[in-house]
Amino acid sequence: MFGRKWSRRAIIGSAVAVLVLIAAVALLRSRSGVQVAQVPFSDLLRHLDRGALAEVVVNGDTLDFKLRSGEAFRTTAPANYVTSNAAFVPELARRNVRLDVRTASEQSAYSYGALVLGVGFVGLLGFTLYRVTTGRIPALESKTREADPETATVTFDDVAGVDEAKAEVKEIVDFLREPERFSAIGGRIPKGVLLVGPPGTGKTLLARSIAGEAKAPFLFASGSDFVEMYAGVGASRIRKLFRDARRHPSCIVFIDELDAVGRSRGGNSLSHEEREQTLNQLLVEMDGFAPNQGIVIIAATNRPDILDPALLRPGRFDRQVTVGAPDVKGREQILKIHSKKVALDTDIDLRQIARGTPGFSGADLANLINEAALFAVRSGRQVVTNEDLDQARDKVLMGVERKSLAMSEHERITCAYHEAGHAVVAALLPDADPLHKVTIVPRGRALGVTMQLPEGDRYTHTREFLDAQLAILMGGRVAEELFLRQMTSGAGNDIERATDIARRMVCEFGMSTLGPLAYRTPGNPWETDRGAGISEATAQRVDEEVHELVMRGYETARQVVAKNRAAVRAMAEELLAVESLDADAIKTIIANAA
Ligand code: ADP
Ligand code: MG
Ligand code: ZN
Repeated sequence: MFGRKWSRRAIIGSAVAVLVLIAAVALLRSRSGVQVAQVPFSDLLRHLDRGALAEVVVNGDTLDFKLRSGEAFRTTAPANYVTSNAAFVPELARRNVRLDVRTASEQSAYSYGALVLGVGFVGLLGFTLYRVTTGRIPALESKTREADPETATVTFDDVAGVDEAKAEVKEIVDFLREPERFSAIGGRIPKGVLLVGPPGTGKTLLARSIAGEAKAPFLFASGSDFVEMYAGVGASRIRKLFRDARRHPSCIVFIDELDAVGRSRGGNSLSHEEREQTLNQLLVEMDGFAPNQGIVIIAATNRPDILDPALLRPGRFDRQVTVGAPDVKGREQILKIHSKKVALDTDIDLRQIARGTPGFSGADLANLINEAALFAVRSGRQVVTNEDLDQARDKVLMGVERKSLAMSEHERITCAYHEAGHAVVAALLPDADPLHKVTIVPRGRALGVTMQLPEGDRYTHTREFLDAQLAILMGGRVAEELFLRQMTSGAGNDIERATDIARRMVCEFGMSTLGPLAYRTPGNPWETDRGAGISEATAQRVDEEVHELVMRGYETARQVVAKNRAAVRAMAEELLAVESLDADAIKTIIANAA
């Protein structure tokens, strides 16, 4: 019985297949674009019943049909009628009606595409409306996240190099631990604390550690979560955030990237009305609870200058805590924290690494350790070596090595002499920072690099140091001129930096014959609103002094390079051979050439 049924199906199936094939061939021959009258589908069925139908062209659910009289019509069938109604096609065949079907590719690409787009669009529209009108789905209404147990265990010990900031927020921890006692003593706690500092210095980490220290819930939201294109969503998310916060006897609400919502009002960007609504809601919520209610709002930003002043008024974010880049001691501590999780070679001195990473943020240092561990793994070692750390530092510092970017041989030679010029001048001038490394391996946008290692973090510079710096910067160009009799654009950045230093020496540091005055000049891009306005004549003298300082640096470099040709040549040759030289190698080369 099963077999009989199957074979009948097979027959129908192949009949349909043949019909479809014929139809496809027919379609290729006749494709008329004539406009026809649209009629109800029942008309087609009636004509079919009467035996008046001559031809049907199926195009999805649109059917074009012709009567034996020659009249043509178009109709729309119920969805999938032709394919799902098992009787239709055989009936056409039985009545000798010509059946045409648009080819699958032609039809499906078109109609499925349209269908998917249509459904997608309608779905998105509905979804959006739902979101806006109800805001009932928690995941959509608010991206507030309570700290998971793991992040809740961050403590002050995990944050280093920002001791002052830590001391300032310590009070908040005391308050959150025992709010009643704290207010009984008469302690007044700020409602809002603004953590200000460059990216990667540990603002988010510090906020988490406050919650961890106080064992208080940590409600996290990012300013960018509140900036949506749909009116009212941001404000409703703010409302939800504070509703959540009020459920806890005490907690920390942390808003990262406050500037995303807190930008000054009055701009006229597209989303500005929405942002204003969100910001207003935030201000309302902050005003809506008493200072000692147990909620502390912490926000972070690296752009306090663009915040709406209303946010900084008393009772709002009236306490600012600066989270700055770590100094050398801070860097060492941060390195210590992050290297706890990796196995370090026994001869690694974290202090030395900290010295070699001025300007690195906490995030950069965490990244450095991580990259070093990856280098170690890649070379199949169990422990991280000094070499790994060196490589990792270069990578973090300069961006990924562009080993694949081939330099021409002439460019390599130019680069080697250029860097050797910098290096020899730096090595031989007594007031310069010691050299750390010279390399002609291109990294980031620089073709070569001469790195100096400051003795400690410098906050002030002596006149002698700056003069030496000018000479070092000129050393590259000078070496190119003396050895290769050429000038290249490669010195452009050096020249720019030197000019900048010289101008500051004249206009800011009082290190020229113009005396200790602050000069505001058009060429002085920093702090243009400070310092004395100057006369035309003085401006000219400023330019002359700047010129004089740079040219003196150039002259110093020329003398050093000319007197130490052998050292420059030796170093350039060595660079061409091994590409990178460390401090010891540099010393050896210079000692041998002397
Ligand atoms: P920010 O919020 O200031 O941009 P983050 O707190 O997000 O910086 O820092 C990113 C990561 O960098 C942290 O998770 C941590 O691993 C590391 N880090 C940054 N600053 C410090 C620091 N002061 N001490 C220890 N680790 C830090
Ligand atoms: Mg952050
Ligand atoms: Zn240079």
